[in-house]
Amino acid sequence: MVLCQAPYTINLSGCKNRGRILAPNDSQRKLIAKQVAHKTTFRPCMLQFLSVALPVPIRDTFTYRHSHSDPHNPRAEHGIKVCPPTIGARVRVPFGRRELIGIITAVETTCDIPNEKLKDILEIIDDTALIPEELLSLCIWASSYYHHSLGEALSAATPQRFRDGKAPTTAKAYIHTQEGKGLPENGLARAKKQQDIHQHLLKHKSLADSDLGLHDFSKATIKALMEKNIITSRALDPELDKSAAEPSDILRESAKPPNDEQSKALTTIRYHEYNCYLLQGTTGSGKTEVYLQTIARILQAGQQALVLIPEIGLSPQTIARFRERFNTPIVELHSNIAEGLRAQNWQDAKSGKAKIIIGTRLASLTPFRDLGIIIIDEEHDQSYKQQDGFKYSARDLCIYRAHTQNIPIILGSATPSLESLHNANTGKYKKLVMRQRAGSAKPPAITIIDLKNQRTESGLSQQSLEHIHRTIKQNEQALIFLNRRGYAPVLVCHSCGWNAQCQSCDAQMTLHQQPRHLLCHYCERRKPIPNSCPNCGHFELQTSGYGTEQLEKTLSALFPQTEVIRVDRDSTQRKNSFEQKLQIATENKACIFVGTQMLAKGHHLPNLTLVIVLDADQGLMSPDFRGLEMMGQLITQVAGRAGRENKLGHVLVQSHRPDHPLLNLLLDQGYNSYAKQLLHIRQSALLPPFQYAATFKAESKRAESCIEFLNIVRASLQGAGASELLKTIGPIPASQEKINNKYRYSYSVFCPSRQRLQNILAKAIKEIDQLALSKRTRWSLTVDPSSL
Ligand code: ADP
Ligand code: ZN
Ligand code: ZN
Repeated sequence: MVLCQAPYTINLSGCKNRGRILAPNDSQRKLIAKQVAHKTTFRPCMLQFLSVALPVPIRDTFTYRHSHSDPHNPRAEHGIKVCPPTIGARVRVPFGRRELIGIITAVETTCDIPNEKLKDILEIIDDTALIPEELLSLCIWASSYYHHSLGEALSAATPQRFRDGKAPTTAKAYIHTQEGKGLPENGLARAKKQQDIHQHLLKHKSLADSDLGLHDFSKATIKALMEKNIITSRALDPELDKSAAEPSDILRESAKPPNDEQSKALTTIRYHEYNCYLLQGTTGSGKTEVYLQTIARILQAGQQALVLIPEIGLSPQTIARFRERFNTPIVELHSNIAEGLRAQNWQDAKSGKAKIIIGTRLASLTPFRDLGIIIIDEEHDQSYKQQDGFKYSARDLCIYRAHTQNIPIILGSATPSLESLHNANTGKYKKLVMRQRAGSAKPPAITIIDLKNQRTESGLSQQSLEHIHRTIKQNEQALIFLNRRGYAPVLVCHSCGWNAQCQSCDAQMTLHQQPRHLLCHYCERRKPIPNSCPNCGHFELQTSGYGTEQLEKTLSALFPQTEVIRVDRDSTQRKNSFEQKLQIATENKACIFVGTQMLAKGHHLPNLTLVIVLDADQGLMSPDFRGLEMMGQLITQVAGRAGRENKLGHVLVQSHRPDHPLLNLLLDQGYNSYAKQLLHIRQSALLPPFQYAATFKAESKRAESCIEFLNIVRASLQGAGASELLKTIGPIPASQEKINNKYRYSYSVFCPSRQRLQNILAKAIKEIDQLALSKRTRWSLTVDPSSL
């Protein structure tokens, strides 16, 4: 047992009052004297106990010892900086046989765990918090809400570079040397670029290194000036080196005069206090313009803005619009940027240098110096949900964050999620509606095409082909939407019925032609296409069904004079190929796009006048409880691509069930009426958003193991609060039961109160975590799942 008291650590086995720092009594004093004399365990130090969040799946934090200001610390002897522990700083610790880097979440002077069970930390990496308090509390909340390890939540919030222990870069600013100050105003007139920086420094006194790009100054010019001893660098001082974009010149281009609906939205939004606004605006109604004008207000107040955009719609188009409008540092945060740049952008957001942060879901976990607003574009998009590991909803994290920071948040969409519509209906969110398309664009005409008994070419009806023909003739563009990539989803033997099943999954392998191979879309297994049937040797192997590749081929053959552009995951793998493919969209030239959902969202296609939804039945038949919601969103979004400028658009929806009441409701009365009807269905089926849901998923080589584990989960949950759970489903097989030789099952619970569900989950998980079976089974919990 150890009693610690600065500056002594003395060994006092059997002493009462452990854990508290006391003035030593007489006998203790004697003991100290004895120990000093023997120089045994005496060390002048202060012992602290650090709670550390480590990147491991275990839900708890870990306690380590730290001897503070210990001159005997071997690191200090070697001249290595020994910093005091700060909450939010990184530490390196021993963990089993490994060393891990974690984040300090608490510093205590006492600890209940017996001392001999604790290990010492190896090193404190940061002398200040890497994770600022606000981000740390966000992660703590998220880890408790999603019942996930805090260490892993913090990992998601931290760029790889910092997870690896690398030091943040220290920001620099350039100032004149004495010599530079003495230089006449036009002293460098013969070197134009150097002269520009010289003049900038005469006017502004300093120049932040991170602002070089903003002014089009180059590192090479800086280097030349430093070599001439005209300028020097020093650490950036956020007060002295205010970012170059002063409020007066924040705008690079002026804002568009808002129309009535935009004005109404803009005057309703209140700044500097929490409100969640649901901005429901038809595609093309000018939501982005509302975001831009709102952000301008925040920037004028010297604050930062966070803008989230969906992964798939992440196009330079959106970011370009922000850059065109604002003369202020804008950074991107998503998985497509290089690690070094991501770390830099993250730091710039934290220091306050970056004013606008645009990113995908992971940007919701960015530190800020002074965040003033959050905007979530296409708030209904599924890519805001992290589907594995730390399963969070970026939208919901942001709402929580806005609430605790007392700032406004805007959720924008033409087709809001049912949860958000429900929250607007119950008054939790404030709804702003924009029905008119900005400028002169008119809403498109919609026609359903009955596919029954029709002759089709790669799924295209004759009527659709005629429309394509007419569109091309008018020098306009068409988009055929099909959410199925590859050439054909099935390969069968005409003689014996053999088909190309994936060996590891309960699924057919998709035939791809470019390059030729069979690919399982679930486990990514690849195989060559057999020349003859592996079962009977017959040569007549046939494909059935069609994917985007086949559609592209058929259309190229039918319209040889017209460019056919396929946009899907396979055709856009090379960097920038997506943008290159979309280049033609801005030209006044006929073309046919064939695209999956990648093309459905957010892209501005001004010459597009015809949209064909090839297979609406895909969505109508979906087994997922959100299937219909997603179908309505997708069809409305794709339809919104047609006729965006002054050309009238036409949308054709092909279906074998043209009388389906929900499809007709959607097409006749629009997304709002459709969503209202879906909400009724959800309410009577006791499904979200009327109930709060959580899903346990198990995965195993044996289906029985999944069921056995989930039955235990069921018992624990029932034990924790059977009377509170209105409904449970499962254990049931996942819609794709077997992937990669593993069976997947789920068990879901529903509860009318979020808090009560949380309590039940917390109680049950504690119990489940103790079970030996839970250590042997691969399982996970999703709170607010997208599918069961
Ligand atoms: P959304 O984000 O709702 O799809 P956008 O903001 O992209 O819509 O606007 C659609 C088009 O209308 C864009 O070309 C935009 O520049 C233009 N626009 C938006 N607001 C106005 C306005 N007030 N006056 C003129 N044009 C506008
Ligand atoms: Zn055969
Ligand atoms: Zn497979």
